[in-house]
Amino acid sequence: MTLARFQMCIGGEWVDALSGKTFESLNPATAQAWAELPDADEADVERAVQVAQQAFDSPAWRGLTATARGKLLRRLGDLIAENKEHLAQLESRDNGKLIRETRGQVSYLPEFFHYTAGLADKLEGGTLPLDKPDLFAYTVHEAMGVVAAIIPWNSPLYLTAIKLAPALAAGNTIVIKPSEHASATILELARLALEAGIPPGVVNVVTGYGPSTGAALTRHPLIRKIAFTGGAATARHVVRSSAENFAKLSLELGGKSPNIIFADADLDSAINGAIAGIYAASGQSCVSGSRLLVQDEIYDEFVSRLVERAQRIRIGNPQEDNSEMGPMATAQQLAVVEGLVADAIAEGARLRTGGKRPANLGEGWFYEPTLFECDRNSMKIMQEEVFGPVASVIRFKDEAEALAIANDSQFGLAAGIWTRDLGRAHRLARDVRSGIIWVNTYRAVSAMAPIGGFKNSGYGRESGIDSVLAYTELKTVWINLSQAPMPDPFVMR
Ligand code: NAD
Repeated sequence: MTLARFQMCIGGEWVDALSGKTFESLNPATAQAWAELPDADEADVERAVQVAQQAFDSPAWRGLTATARGKLLRRLGDLIAENKEHLAQLESRDNGKLIRETRGQVSYLPEFFHYTAGLADKLEGGTLPLDKPDLFAYTVHEAMGVVAAIIPWNSPLYLTAIKLAPALAAGNTIVIKPSEHASATILELARLALEAGIPPGVVNVVTGYGPSTGAALTRHPLIRKIAFTGGAATARHVVRSSAENFAKLSLELGGKSPNIIFADADLDSAINGAIAGIYAASGQSCVSGSRLLVQDEIYDEFVSRLVERAQRIRIGNPQEDNSEMGPMATAQQLAVVEGLVADAIAEGARLRTGGKRPANLGEGWFYEPTLFECDRNSMKIMQEEVFGPVASVIRFKDEAEALAIANDSQFGLAAGIWTRDLGRAHRLARDVRSGIIWVNTYRAVSAMAPIGGFKNSGYGRESGIDSVLAYTELKTVWINLSQAPMPDPFVMR
């Protein structure tokens, strides 16, 4: 099979790596290479960051009003809408996500650009009611400079959009490093950005591996902000890199999110919510509801219904419309899942379904929907992120116990609460320590709703009305109104 060949976008030009090196991207459904991409090293990253800095300083970008930047973002959103089927197909082939899911995500993608476009010219500073009558001061939100965006493989377009749109709305330029496992759609996004009229050099994409390309980018002295989504171990490298030049950071990391089902819940909905939480996207979602907490009275019925539904999930080619679960995105991730499942069995978790690769699906990295019953929240399978279709379920007797189990985690990204009791829903929404709470629903996202985590799930928030502010520096300007000479120079005014 001939491989599709991609080039990187640096300064509006399509280029190979200076070294000429390339790497292959594999199709997770077949485990076969389908594309070849440039393997950028330090020299390519240097070029991209320098070009981004020049674009930041150029009148073509800096001279635009915020309203004009907003119009460009709106146009980019429109172009994404026009190209949605192409983008959905490409992302599904590259990372193995279901075509029905990538279609849904790409159809919604323009909203992130349209919403953020409207925010671009609403970043108002303030005039300060100073307690010093001879002085007047005001604040301005200014662009930071060159932003580095580091993207994982599970939802590349969505996770790039929530960084790119606010970074550009604020007037920054950007160098994006997509995952080595799923870069294709981000290169297409750069092409659409150029087509939208965003000046060359404002949006750059370098492709390559994390420890080489990613590390060279995050430690570059001209980077003023790093927006990272990925795993905790990688995030620690990124935090260390940022110490070189004190780049500002946002970290969107993983989770072990509790999905709490009370006996008074609408059980049909809660079953769908549990399935959506863990088996959608084959569990490769940062917000996956991988810890199921189920109240005593309904526990047995709930678990057997869940097992029955999990066993009916249609696993198959992600590009076929009727598939319900696709493969793991990478062979490494499949090995991680298999390792954690083996550890769970060794620790005494009871395997109710799954726990193996399905037969007859060829070489693709498929894994069956898996469910463990656990007696203790301290078990490894209740504490560690799997990032695969593996749920662990535990029983609780009352609200206090559910809350204690929910909060007994190093993570705090998301939580689901299933109940008809309004007071209980609000109590838990208040007391569960996580950045997102879904009541009687799961895995909902919106351009208007911030996303981000507590504890080891990271810091900073993306999306929502404050998202653009996170890509600005606050400047305070002082004006002396007095006609008198400057007073005593040795005393602070
Ligand atoms: P990862 O941490 O392995 O990789 C993420 C990105 O970092 C990739 O582009 C990779 O090349 C790059 N990278 C790797 N080493 C680097 C280094 N030393 N310096 C700079 N960059 C480096 O994550 P992944 O396996 O691609 O994605 C899975 C993880 O992402 C999971 O832990 C998941 O929970 C998390 N995630 C979080 C969110 C969220 O919004 N909170 C969303 C999706 C995924």
